Amino acid sequence: MSRPIIATINQKALKHNLSIVRSIVPKLKIWSVIKANAYGHGINNIWSLSDTDGFALLSLEEAIMLRQHGWKKPILLLEGFFHVKDLYLISRYNLTTVIHSHWQIKALENTVLLNPVSIYLKINSGMNRLGFEQKSFNKILYKLNFLKNIRDITLMMHIGNNDNSDNINYFDRIKKSIKGKDYLCSISNSACVLWNSDVHYDWVRVGILLYGASPSGNWSDIANINLQPAMTLSSKIIGIQKLRLGDTIGYGSSYIAKKRQRIGIVACGYADGYPRHAPNGTPLLVDGNITQLLGTVSMDMITIDLTNCPQTCIGSSVELWGNTIKIDQVAKAAGTVSYELMCSLAPRVPLNIIC
Ligand SMILES: *Cc1c(COP(=O)(O)O)cnc(C)c1O
Repeated sequence: MSRPIIATINQKALKHNLSIVRSIVPKLKIWSVIKANAYGHGINNIWSLSDTDGFALLSLEEAIMLRQHGWKKPILLLEGFFHVKDLYLISRYNLTTVIHSHWQIKALENTVLLNPVSIYLKINSGMNRLGFEQKSFNKILYKLNFLKNIRDITLMMHIGNNDNSDNINYFDRIKKSIKGKDYLCSISNSACVLWNSDVHYDWVRVGILLYGASPSGNWSDIANINLQPAMTLSSKIIGIQKLRLGDTIGYGSSYIAKKRQRIGIVACGYADGYPRHAPNGTPLLVDGNITQLLGTVSMDMITIDLTNCPQTCIGSSVELWGNTIKIDQVAKAAGTVSYELMCSLAPRVPLNIIC
């Protein structure tokens, strides 16, 4: 039998979470963001999201794979294209591409395409990653409207701070300053969908909510909207030790027993995607009891407190995160966010798909 660690991907939860997002923004179109291997859930496990209006991702190869699976609705390339020749495939497979740089506009001018493409014109919101400046915007739009390789233009911006209304005012200013026609817009990510109803333009781009975690990093912020975690990481106890006062655990002896104490060894380590920085006290579930991590996380093992779990033995099941132990709680304890934990799920962990 194989090592007992397993990640359960619940496709029903994905579908349910999409319906929750839909109920929050019933009039808007939804891009379901499935970049980074669907936030670690597996690019092939997203078909229960097919009520979505479109899929958004980074990889041209994955976009084409979706088309080959028969997906006919829109697909958005969130970082646009990386090589001029990508444009032929974008046109051929009817993909929507972000345009964030002048070289991409030149490529659109100078390439002969069979079918025109839909573009998302990216505005630099002040995060200073990708996008054009406000002052160049009217000139760019004027030019783009003449390019016969462009079918339609949507204005796009990404907001980096959940509580920053400056970005929104900035966008409103740009929108007002734009001459001529009215463009479709896409601003909101998960955080904006929940907490910034003033930026609910035509298309929202939702990732983390679909997977059942909080864009703020605090589970309590989404506890009342009834999302279901789409990923459960579980394993089993493979060893038990009895410590005496002063005994230590693991690398660096970072935990020292203050009393006689039973501990369990779990087949899960940082090489499975469990965060190495999770400290003593990080919550876990064993046999239905909440307990805590003790000692340093190893590559293949962690150790947990069994003081209040007298019935726990070798073979008992452990939830690292899932329905009871929220991934947001584990991430917070380890000084990171659920996004990183999901994306870090290691390829060596087998997936169990619930459909
Ligand atoms: C990843 C991403 C999103 C989704 O963000 P969530 O916080 O997961 O909702 C939205 N827009 C862009 C441009 C992204 O890259």
